[in-house]
Amino acid sequence: MDAVVQYLRDHQAEHLDWARVICRIPSISTKPEHADDVRSAITWTHDLCERIGLTAAVHETGGHPVVVATHCEAAGAPTYLIYGHMDVQPEGDLSLWDADPFDPVVKDGKLICRGSADDKGQVLLHLRAVAAWLATEKRLPINVKFLIEGEEEIASPNLGPFLKDHADELACDHVIISDTGMYADGWPTITYGTRGLLYKEIRLFGPKHDLHSGSFGGTVANPANVLTELLASLHDADGRVTVDGFYNDVAEATAAEREQIRALPLDDAEYAANLGSPGIAGETGFSTNERRWIRPTLDINGIYGGFMQEGANTIVPKSAGAKVSMRLVPNQDGGKLSTAFDATIKARCPDTVRLEILNHGHADAYMAPLDSKPMQAARKALQEAFGREPAFIREGGSLPILPMFRQVLGADCLLIGFAGPNCNAHGPNENIVLEDVDCGAEATARLFKHLAT
Ligand SMILES: [Zn+2]
Repeated sequence: MDAVVQYLRDHQAEHLDWARVICRIPSISTKPEHADDVRSAITWTHDLCERIGLTAAVHETGGHPVVVATHCEAAGAPTYLIYGHMDVQPEGDLSLWDADPFDPVVKDGKLICRGSADDKGQVLLHLRAVAAWLATEKRLPINVKFLIEGEEEIASPNLGPFLKDHADELACDHVIISDTGMYADGWPTITYGTRGLLYKEIRLFGPKHDLHSGSFGGTVANPANVLTELLASLHDADGRVTVDGFYNDVAEATAAEREQIRALPLDDAEYAANLGSPGIAGETGFSTNERRWIRPTLDINGIYGGFMQEGANTIVPKSAGAKVSMRLVPNQDGGKLSTAFDATIKARCPDTVRLEILNHGHADAYMAPLDSKPMQAARKALQEAFGREPAFIREGGSLPILPMFRQVLGADCLLIGFAGPNCNAHGPNENIVLEDVDCGAEATARLFKHLAT
């Protein structure tokens, strides 16, 4: 292990150059004019994989290509699939960046550029670890298969079909992903759960056109009035969601988990101030971290209808609508709750307006087994590399690929993230702390060893 770690230290500058080169490619998957750049990023990754001793191939999909790279010579050892993505978000408002987002800058111990944290910089950690093992020990202690795609930032539309078509080739005991964050700079972090999502839209229609509110107001139902009543009815005074049966299937967090979450430092006033919010709010009886990780929530994402321009226009609008999303926790079922949501709204909606409910899809929540061997191996490896016990957290957002890996490959996921809380992924001046990256590469190299035993 010493030689592997020493190799990583000796090649720190060279490995930083890998990041500089790959981050220079504007592989923005959502923009068709950057399709060739996504392909270049995938090809570059393929070439790097081959150079460090993996066997790699670029595969076409219905969209951007993927690269699969393997090293499966550890007979009897478990097989790990390492997933990541080399596509990035658009640069956004350039005036908010201190430099060109695709011209990497090293400043104050950070690599600043689009993709430095999400996810190019994190994919490279694993490749650095492989390079170090193969250069020094001439072997890997486990079997690895890399699956690096180019469509994560557009919700991986072709990943599911690709996994199904290559299920044998990608068969593994466990999946490892570094595409999440750290609870604090320098604090290695394992994310063991994500929330699911259910997205709905309510549309209400009243008169055939906007009406004079003086002549007709108070004689027919106003869709905007009805909408606000419906929306207001979706929470009770304790901030609980009132969709019928909403909490029926919720897998409640254990007392031990809640205690562990509450032990993580979080200052509510500072949290609110960082968000520019006058104060925190949420379901009674739960802390801020509990509210965003272990509790299901409902948010109105947007409200539309009626007169929205400057000045005053006295009307009864002909229609109104709202987009509403719910974050789900294990074992809530998005399909079942979608039906429950529709039934709840229908039952509460008066027949003086016409109601339409649209579906904008759903994704499942995910929980990794906390007592798994990979989880214990990761804890040890992170502790050794960072000199600090890792934080165990859940993530409030949704990662539909996690339930997908479980469903298609029958494999659970280990999420170890090295992006700092201020990495600004998707935003201006995206960055990653170089010290965290270097410790991350060492942790990954150590993880390979612990996973083998
Ligand atoms: Zn990502």
